[in-house]
Amino acid sequence: MISKYSNQTEQINEEEIKEAAQKIKEGEIVLFPTETVYGLGANAMNAEAVKKIFEAKGRASDNPLIVHVSNLIMLKQIVENIGEIEQKLIQTFWPGPLTIIFPRKSEQIIPNITTAGLDTVGVRMPSNLIAQKLIEYAGVPIAAPSANVSGKPSGTKIEDILQEFDGKVAYILDGGFVDIGVESTVIQVKKNTIHLLRPGKITKEQLEQIAKVEVDSHVLGKVEKTEVVASPGMKYRHYAPNTKCMMIYSKEPQKMIDKINEIIRKKQDENQTVLVLGRKQHLNKYIANKKWNMGETLDEVAKNIFTLLRQVDKENVDLVIIEGVGQQKLGLAITNRLIRACEYNYIVIE
Ligand code: AMP
Ligand code: MG
Repeated sequence: MISKYSNQTEQINEEEIKEAAQKIKEGEIVLFPTETVYGLGANAMNAEAVKKIFEAKGRASDNPLIVHVSNLIMLKQIVENIGEIEQKLIQTFWPGPLTIIFPRKSEQIIPNITTAGLDTVGVRMPSNLIAQKLIEYAGVPIAAPSANVSGKPSGTKIEDILQEFDGKVAYILDGGFVDIGVESTVIQVKKNTIHLLRPGKITKEQLEQIAKVEVDSHVLGKVEKTEVVASPGMKYRHYAPNTKCMMIYSKEPQKMIDKINEIIRKKQDENQTVLVLGRKQHLNKYIANKKWNMGETLDEVAKNIFTLLRQVDKENVDLVIIEGVGQQKLGLAITNRLIRACEYNYIVIE
């Protein structure tokens, strides 16, 4: 069953959300929108149901799922304690795109499969109304990773992911194109410091208003498969199209544009084709035949990037050159996703 909402301002059909919630209660998996990306959800307390998520995604079993709650009572049921800084973060950023890693209450409540055997659990309260109502009607916390087959860009609209999940899920709630487009910020508080494990819409700069922030070295660095990392999801190949991609960035736009054109020229001399993904304000400066608009602002780039990355393989080009966006504010999250899409093939010009 697919239920369609073209956007969130439309009247929400409560009956359809209740039907989807019923599927969650029955131990089935459901595709649903959140403000960040689409989620593939199951009852977080039901190990058999959560197993279906791992199977549908082909997700590695050591990669934990984020648990979504709709109220603080639900949070208190699953976490051991809520520290002072965590309380401030909740007050400031929930509901919203911030996942907080807490000590898990007990394996009896949140099974090992959900947390990949860790004694912590990542929890978030989404602001998307459809997501909130789904959790509320299901009456249980919903474990949900991003809705994409593992390795692919996260789903930001149903059209992009329908093929991947059609027939594999019990219910699809279509909430239209998501608002944000990159996954939630993931943090863990240790010794009064906020460790930023995965950047997202809630920025380092915003978190610094609450406490000292340390960016995990894997946010911009390469992760070896055998390494033990704070956020296991960072180990895996992610977001990368089959076509070779490279990212070019300089703080000075003209230097970036010149470098990109230099590479395009070289490729053209070798009879190779190039697709450029650039900011709207730079596109007409590129000499490539194929150019795609990533958006003008960082918010627009974040929203568009995954759906664009999903389409590049259809173009049959030899190389995709993607403009970098820097590390300020939402730029850090976009850069974190782009360097993975490019499999660490990037150049930063001073
Ligand atoms: P996804 O659900 O696909 O957005 O990925 C969830 C991300 O959150 C992955 O990078 C996980 O490694 C991370 N995550 C979830 N739970 C935990 C946890 N308990 N400790 C550390 N990282 C977590
Ligand atoms: Mg994911």
